[in-house]
This record gives sequence, C-alpha cells and structure tokens, in this order.
Amino acid sequence: MRSYIGKPVYKGVRLGPVIVIKDMHAPVKREKADSSEAELKRLEKACDKTKNQLQKLYHKAVREAGEASAAIFEAHQMMLEDEDFLRAIRSMIETEQANAEYAVAATEDRFSEMLAGMDDEHMKARAADIKDVSNRLLRNLSGQKEIDWEEMEPAIIIAEDLSPSETVRMDKDKILALVTVHGSSNSHTAILARTMNIPALIGVPLELDSVRSGMLAVVNGTTGELILEPEEETCRRAQALMEEEEEQLHLLQSQKGKETITTYGSKIRLYANIGGVEDAGYAIENDAEGIGLFRSEFLYLGRTELPTEEEQFQAYKKVLQMMAGKQVIIRTLDIGADKKADCFNLGKEENPALGCRGIRVCLKQPEIFKTQLRALLRAAVFGDLAVMYPMIISVEEVKKIQEILSEVRTELEEQKVPYQMPEQGIMIETPAAVMISDELAELVDFFSIGTNDLTQYTLAIDRQNERLDEFYDPHHRAVLKMIRMTVDNAHKAGKRAGICGELGADPELTEAFIKMGVDELSVAPSMILKLRKRIREL
Ligand code: PEP
Ligand code: MG
Repeated sequence: MRSYIGKPVYKGVRLGPVIVIKDMHAPVKREKADSSEAELKRLEKACDKTKNQLQKLYHKAVREAGEASAAIFEAHQMMLEDEDFLRAIRSMIETEQANAEYAVAATEDRFSEMLAGMDDEHMKARAADIKDVSNRLLRNLSGQKEIDWEEMEPAIIIAEDLSPSETVRMDKDKILALVTVHGSSNSHTAILARTMNIPALIGVPLELDSVRSGMLAVVNGTTGELILEPEEETCRRAQALMEEEEEQLHLLQSQKGKETITTYGSKIRLYANIGGVEDAGYAIENDAEGIGLFRSEFLYLGRTELPTEEEQFQAYKKVLQMMAGKQVIIRTLDIGADKKADCFNLGKEENPALGCRGIRVCLKQPEIFKTQLRALLRAAVFGDLAVMYPMIISVEEVKKIQEILSEVRTELEEQKVPYQMPEQGIMIETPAAVMISDELAELVDFFSIGTNDLTQYTLAIDRQNERLDEFYDPHHRAVLKMIRMTVDNAHKAGKRAGICGELGADPELTEAFIKMGVDELSVAPSMILKLRKRIREL
C-alpha cells in the first residue's frame, strides 16, 4: 500500500482499478541508435500498426457517423504513405543515427510548421493532421496502448497532465476519478472534472512508471489522498465513505423543485455551467433553473476539422429542447490559452493567456464566427436562447460583433432561413471590461462575470501555473470590488449581472453576492442543490 497527497479539485471518494495515460506531449528525447537498421524496422512495424488502427477507425466511423466523417481516417492513412514524409524520417535515422521516436517528432515539427505557415487554409489544416498521425505513430513506437473507451470498465485515470482537448474526448461514464501529477486548480481540466461530477486530484507527487494499469486504488477528493494497492481495511473505509456520500446526495434531493430564495425574500437565478450537450442531462438532474454558461468551444476541441454549421445547430437545438423553455446562455467560441484545438492553427505564443484567445480569434477569423452565429440564430427558434461573448475589452469589439451579427441576419433573411434574435450579453472577465462596464452596459442585455479569468488578469497570475495556486486568491478585495462595480453598473443601465466563474459556487461568498445584488449564479451542476440549500437557509 502506498499513499500520496495531492490537491483536491472535486470532492468524492472512489475505489477502483487504475488506467495510466502516459504523456505523449512530453518532449521526445534524442538518442543515438545502436543500429539504424533496427530503428528502421521498428518504424516500419509502427507504421503498419498505425495503418491498421486507422483502417479499423475508418470502418467504425463509417458505420457510426457516415462516410463524410470517416474520411479523415482515410486521409491519415494516406499521410502514412506519403513518400516525402517517410523519406524525411528515414533519412534522419540513417544519416544521423537518430532513434525512430526522435526522427518522427522532429519531422512532424518541420512538416507541421511548414504547412501552418502556408496561405492556403486547406494546407494549414493539414498541419493538425500531421500532428495527429505522428502522435499515433509515437504511441505505437513506445508500445503504449490507446484506451478503448467502449470496451473499458470504469477506472481511475492517472496521467502526468491532461489538456482540455484530451479530457473532452474521454467517456465520462467510464471515469471513476481523475488524478494528475501536474495541473492547476483553476485550469479547464479541473473545471471539467467539477462539471462532470468526477472526484479529482492534481499535483500528486507520483512516478508514473511505478504505477501499473489495473492496480487497485482509492481516491479521496476531500483529503487529497491517493492510495495505491490499498489494504482490505482501507477499501472497507472507502466503501463506507462512498455510501455516506450517496446518503448525503439523497438528502439533497429534497431541494429539488424548491424556489431559490433567502428567508428574507431575496431571489437569485441558480443556473448550471456545461461543456457539452450531454452535460445538459446533469443540469436537469440537479434541477438547474437554466444554463448560465455553455462553453461552446468544447465542441471544437479534440478534433482536426471545424464543426459545421449544421452540427453546431443540432447541438444547440438539442440543449434548448432538453431545457424545455428554460434559458440557455451559450458562450461563443473561447478558444486559445489552455484550450488549444487542432482545427485552429493558433501558432506558438510567448504568453498564450494574453494572446490570441476568445473574441479576438473570432474577430480575426470572421468566417468561423459567422458560422457559429448562424447556427445560434437558427437554434434560437427552439427555446429561450441567450448568447454571450468572451474576453471583451472594449466598446469597439462589441460594436464589431453587432456589425457581424447584422450581416448574419441579413444573410439568413435573404436565404429565408428561419431564425430568432437571442438576448445579447458579454462576459466581464478582464479588468478593462470592469472599468468601462458603465459604457458596455448600454450596448448589451446582460453581463456574466467570469471570475476565473477576472482573477487571473487582475492579480497578474497565470491560472494555469500550478506553482502559483497559493497566490491565486479569488477572494482578493480587488476582485470583489470589481464584481460589485460591474453589478452596480449593470443595474444603473437596467441590465442584469450574473457570475459564471468558479467563485459563484463558493458558499463563503453566497451571502455577499446576494447583498451585492448579483442576479444569477451559474455553477457546476453538482453544486446547484448544495447552493440552493445554503441560500434557503440564509
Ligand atoms: C471565467 O473565466 O470565469 C469563465 C467562466 O470562463 P472560462 O473558465 O471558461 O475561461
Ligand atoms: Mg474565462
């Protein structure tokens, strides 16, 4: 039995087998190969295995999603037959005695950089494909198995680190708990764990090589403890805690259907944050009064092609129909920083959190933005939709959005496509937006305060930097003053203001928020009933 302590991100105890995911993004080491011939053979074997996997994936995708969606796997197979690509890898092995892994990684870097730098959008998109194929090849060279989510039994996932795009690809029903060696409490991976209701630990000082997939483990998301190969008594205790948790959950059920109102009569809208269509199910299960933040960028993560207008329309329509008349606030694409999507070639940046992200990406690539807006306006016919825009810093940006929106409306009208105009809001998550919130309030219907980024930008602390977790203080008076200022300015203009950052779920601040007049709290679905109980007791 071995025990480790990490930082808890989401509460809950789980007992089960472990699956270890090795970090495929760790830099590949250059090693001098003893025999180039042996390396070439390894490469050939890995190529064959990769082609085989792609072939199977192609047939599976044809069966489940149709020929068009499957085409990508066919294209990837063709890349593995591309003579230029293969020759470059082989030549590194032969002339520089490089190991096969290094030759693949270096060639991938060279090819994807070259493609990303081209003017042609189609060629640019191929850079992501090269990365995808090379990653698969590297995995096969290292002998690491790919997780088969369909076949796998529920397990505790242990990894060096996980990116949001890796996390969204996982089958949530198969994850008992998430454990990572790195990561910060404010990262999107941590947020996803909270949304998915999955006990999670980060910063667990663990040597991944010492963990075998299949080992039994206990994760305690309250104490931060990970116990590998637990003794019988530890398993029994974990089982008892799990039963206790079940009971607590059961007690909370009595909050369902009740009004969210304090004993002195203040009401607040209690909404849910979701990352995908299936999360709307958790929102309903937990009796959310609406969706206050649908992080639409998760539809774009973990894939190499942009989602089409139709695909997005279907996703938004489905959530609206599931919420059956309750309001759904969809945030437009907030890609960038830690949310890197292969279908966008954003390039490397020195400071990605201060770089090309959020509304900036959309305003720089209006065609992508327009596709999303068209899908949103069309979906609005099916329920109470509101749309909000992330990372706003200026009045000009809002006016530019309005211009683009009006072009989209004209197009839809000309094409006689049914649509409706959703309510318009912006996220207040930069100090600049707070300071001009009086001016911004005149232009929109509502504000939603993103305290995760607002804290990051106010305190000048990268929310991704795990070493700074102790300094990242969302209770900082500067942050609380900014929230108050934003709410006051919204109300002066007769508009409403909510909070959709993680701070909205902090029970220590619930009373303060209600006193400030915050109109809406949007939180992880699993927090709704707990918060309703707290508010009703105030
Ligand atoms: C926020 O910044 O508080 C927010 C809700 O957006 P995200 O966490 O997705 O950046
Ligand atoms: Mg944000």
